[in-house]
Amino acid sequence: MANAQTKTKPEETEVYTPVPKIVQATGIFSPAPSDAIVLFDGKDLSKWVMTEDRDKPAVWPVANNVFTVKKGKGSGNIETKQSFGNYQLHIEWQVPANIEGKGQGRGNSGLFLASLGKGDAGYELQILDSYKNETYTNGQAASIYKQLVPLANPTNKPGEWNSYDVIWTAPTFNNDKSLGTPARVTVLFNGVLVQDNVELKGPTQYIGDPAYKQAHGPAPIKLQSHGDPSAALNFRNIWLREL
Ligand code: MG
Repeated sequence: MANAQTKTKPEETEVYTPVPKIVQATGIFSPAPSDAIVLFDGKDLSKWVMTEDRDKPAVWPVANNVFTVKKGKGSGNIETKQSFGNYQLHIEWQVPANIEGKGQGRGNSGLFLASLGKGDAGYELQILDSYKNETYTNGQAASIYKQLVPLANPTNKPGEWNSYDVIWTAPTFNNDKSLGTPARVTVLFNGVLVQDNVELKGPTQYIGDPAYKQAHGPAPIKLQSHGDPSAALNFRNIWLREL
């Protein structure tokens, strides 16, 4: 391994080409099926807590049947009280029409398919305004951040709603804590297939290459408060079916 180099800068794991094609799609705005766990029904965040202190209720404001991650720092990530293994999940998100900023600083949030603790620990399905907003392709909306580029870009205009439908197969670990089977994910973004039963190399890593370093079981689902000045997004209609 004489030539092996350690990646130490965030830029070293950014990918820029090819750029996923733009697809126009309205989205899928589906009510919860009868056997779903409703994680947000428009009324309150009673199924969610603060990631940094799971004893604290989620403080993101709820109004008009949506909840909002505030602009700037200080909101903190939120995650579900309940932990999940394999599941099907539906979520709808909206970047406000008056969004500002560019690249990763434009409507950045994230859906962590399994939260592995404080901060951004876990497997992030990126949420970003990717409507006419260039950034690295493995960091645009519906990427598995810094890991898997989406197959297409059907992001709706700011002010319009988007949907993600996710099928998550959690990783498994052996008794000695080594990896048994890696995580897999399928994602439909506004009804368009963007991740096709792909394998994850490990939890999201901002710097360096991802790897499975920590054995874990069922985990909460987390939403990111990215903290950039533009990141005020709305969420609605979140439900999950355990598989
Ligand atoms: Mg993000």
